[in-house]
Amino acid sequence: MDTAISAVSREKARGFMQPFDKDLRAAFWAARETDRRKLVRKGSWAGIIVYVIFGLLDVVVVPDAAHLTIAGRIVSGALGVTLIEMLFRRGAGAEVLDIASAFCLFVVFGVWIATASMTHNQHTFSTYVLYGNVFMASATLFFAYRLRVSLIVCSALLLVMVSALYESGAYQPAQIVLYSSFFLTCFVFTLIVNLRMTDERYRVFLNELEAKFYQAAEEQRGEQLHRQSRTDYLTGVENRRSLDEGLAVHWAKWRDDSTAFAVALIDVDHFKKFNDGHGHVKGDDCLKSVAKILGAVVQSHGGRLGRYGGEEFMAIVPVAGEAEALAFGGSVRAAIENSHIEHGFRLDGVPMVTVSVGMSYTGFRVANRVEQLVAEADQALYAAKEAGRNSVIVYDANNPLHNDSSDRVAGILKQALGQALLSLAYQPIVDAHTGEVKGFEALMRLQSPEGQSVSPAEFIPVAERTGAIVPLGKWAIHTVCRDLLAPGIVPLVSVNVSAIQLKLKGFSMQVAKILLETKVPGHRLALEITEGLQLEIDADVLQTIGELKDLGVRIWLDDFGTGFAGLSWLRTIEFDKVKIDKSFLHDADRPEGRMLLEDIITLIRRRGARILMEGVETKEQLEFSQRSGVDEVQGYHLGRPGPIDPYKPKTAPNGARPASAPALVIDRTSEAAPYPSKIA
Ligand code: C2E
Ligand code: CA
Ligand code: CA
Repeated sequence: MDTAISAVSREKARGFMQPFDKDLRAAFWAARETDRRKLVRKGSWAGIIVYVIFGLLDVVVVPDAAHLTIAGRIVSGALGVTLIEMLFRRGAGAEVLDIASAFCLFVVFGVWIATASMTHNQHTFSTYVLYGNVFMASATLFFAYRLRVSLIVCSALLLVMVSALYESGAYQPAQIVLYSSFFLTCFVFTLIVNLRMTDERYRVFLNELEAKFYQAAEEQRGEQLHRQSRTDYLTGVENRRSLDEGLAVHWAKWRDDSTAFAVALIDVDHFKKFNDGHGHVKGDDCLKSVAKILGAVVQSHGGRLGRYGGEEFMAIVPVAGEAEALAFGGSVRAAIENSHIEHGFRLDGVPMVTVSVGMSYTGFRVANRVEQLVAEADQALYAAKEAGRNSVIVYDANNPLHNDSSDRVAGILKQALGQALLSLAYQPIVDAHTGEVKGFEALMRLQSPEGQSVSPAEFIPVAERTGAIVPLGKWAIHTVCRDLLAPGIVPLVSVNVSAIQLKLKGFSMQVAKILLETKVPGHRLALEITEGLQLEIDADVLQTIGELKDLGVRIWLDDFGTGFAGLSWLRTIEFDKVKIDKSFLHDADRPEGRMLLEDIITLIRRRGARILMEGVETKEQLEFSQRSGVDEVQGYHLGRPGPIDPYKPKTAPNGARPASAPALVIDRTSEAAPYPSKIA
């Protein structure tokens, strides 16, 4: 692709005298083939009709020969157009049609000259010959033949015209030279115009081609990035990000058409001892070997395999029931045992590497979350370890080891708004280069009535499933506008919105009402949308986003890179900002991860959105982000989510609060403030 692009740019920079790139030139003519064929056919019909109509002029100019000229016009015209039509229908190429039509042009011209020359009034005739220019212009401009065809036919026309003048005997030699040079000038001028037109078309063609190549290269790069971002660097199997996607896909499919599947967590027994004893290099080799063996087994069962973390792998496989799940787990366990990878440091004295397998499957459940399936597999794995390792346990639904907590959470959510169990924590968003706090992200917090905090990872999915996210999300926007934006405490706040809210008809209206009521200008509010499986960008969602943008509300893309949708979303929606998912920064301590992140940044940059790097936890990560040229950063290193108080501007001496967004002044004297106001 790169060579193709550079060939096009070289051709665009080609000097006037330099030869064309043969392939590109051929492609150009090939691209114009259809148009040119049509042009010759239509042009011939039009030209011949005009040619015959001009017989009327013959009646006036050369009345004594008009019967001959008109007959000649009709016969030669009819023959010419028949020839072209026939060739066209037989599928002749543009080149052949060009030559045939040039030939006809010459013949009809000759017929006209020959018949008109029969007149007695040679003086009028010789002036009439000047009309030959029109034929020349037809060849160069109207039919726009390729250069050599134009050149040949025009020279022939020129020759005939000059000899007709000479033969008429009506002119002195000087006059003949005068007229001939006039013909020649017309010829050269029209030829130049012809060349220019072709050149112009060629340029347009090259530009289009270049754009197409760039688009294709970008898509290729995007796919490559997508693949890379889903591969485990060490073992080459899928990584956790990819597994999460796989789980979501299988889960959705299971809910749609009951295609059951199992999740297997496969853990290498006593791996820490292996690493300590054999060293990290051997440890890495061991994981690679295990991945390879597992890969073969999983593939033969039509499943997918990934590294879930450390020495733990996950397989997602289609199964019909518990027995099949157990059989799969058994073959995994046996395959590793039978490959006899040496392990000299096990506490139990077994001399080789083995794995413990914990599984769960969809078969029996009614509904719920895919996370629960993973949690069950995890419990089964724990049980397998307890059972002495090198064993397989499938989670038993009839003997649940724990209760689903989501019902409890749903219960808390029901009372949340009424009992003030909800609150918002604010995390600063910082300019990567100046260290200035540009705004805050509002993150929802939930407490149980007993005062225990429930993690968003737990309650947000439940709120989405039960629909509670709709009033909760509205509450978040309203609270932010009323408490932070309206009093001018902070310049900008972003609020996370869930797909459910975006799909809701009237969501933008809801936001508009809140903005109006709190008198907050739209541009001080940003909404973060997470790319994900739940949100399909359809016309309704696009309309909602358009309406929000009309209100001035900023639209940000959150967690970029975690779903499959990201790239196509970037193309469809003009995001004001893209937040790169923290997992990419956390992977950037390896060279491959660093390169991937840099490529992602380039990709987003090309789309023109501002870039925010999430999850900056260390000084090194901050420095890396700064070097990579991201615009803004967010993360524990710059400030954890918390109350807004440390960031509140100092109250004016008279106690009044500034009316509009102030430049943010951070109280650095406050001991309580764990936040830096600027990056050191
Ligand atoms: P998110 O939108 O990607 O929010 C960022 C999460 O990363 C927050 O987790 C934040 O506390 C955490 N975080 C911030 N800096 C760092 C860092 O340096 N390192 C690490 N490891 N993590 C960091 P939190 O508050 O638990 O929220 C989790 C998710 O819950 C959010 O992810 C968001 O998707 C969702 N969520 C939170 N509040 C809302 C809300 O009001 N509405 C909706 N629909 N979703 C929300
Ligand atoms: Ca967010
Ligand atoms: Ca995020």
